[in-house]
Amino acid sequence: GLRKREVNVIVVGLDNSGKSTILNHLKPDLERAADIVPTVGFNVERFKAQSLAFTAFDMSGQGRYRNLWEHYYRDCDAIIYVVDSSDKLRMVVAKDELDALLQHPDIRPRRIPLLFFANKMDLKEAMSSVKVTMMLGLEKMENKQFHICASNAITGEGLSDGIAWLTQAAE
Ligand code: GDP
Repeated sequence: GLRKREVNVIVVGLDNSGKSTILNHLKPDLERAADIVPTVGFNVERFKAQSLAFTAFDMSGQGRYRNLWEHYYRDCDAIIYVVDSSDKLRMVVAKDELDALLQHPDIRPRRIPLLFFANKMDLKEAMSSVKVTMMLGLEKMENKQFHICASNAITGEGLSDGIAWLTQAAE
């Protein structure tokens, strides 16, 4: 069939999950920031790396910005969902946001590949990717293909495996 020139990937998750740190590894060198500060409010970050066009934002702020971020769902071809594996308290919030995403009319009927980064795997309190899979209920997702990678966004460990899967899945 016709292969799209560009694959639109949205990178989402709660604040502090490690999105900015992950993006910094994926960014072309010139755009790489020296310092990453935690994102506040509704910041959207966009850049291209090879055939992938990334759009990233936080799902936080009591849903105040929900209509702004949902606007990006329609054109996305793939989703990267980042979770802080060490944040047991907010895993339920991460699941609620994931469920809201999966139920959205621009996402629900489409067979979009979902890549999960179970990030901060280096922390001693981090849950395994198997545990994160259970807590997010990933096995029960319908009409979606998914892959989960434990990652350490500081060293970059686990990121290229995930991106390789996503690239082939989105083609
Ligand atoms: P964002 O709000 O989702 O963009 O999260 P950031 O990328 O700003 O990361 C939030 C904090 O977690 C920062 O202090 C990062 O240095 C730290 N962090 C991100 N990824 C990892 C990781 O894999 N391991 C550890 N130990 N810390 C991480």
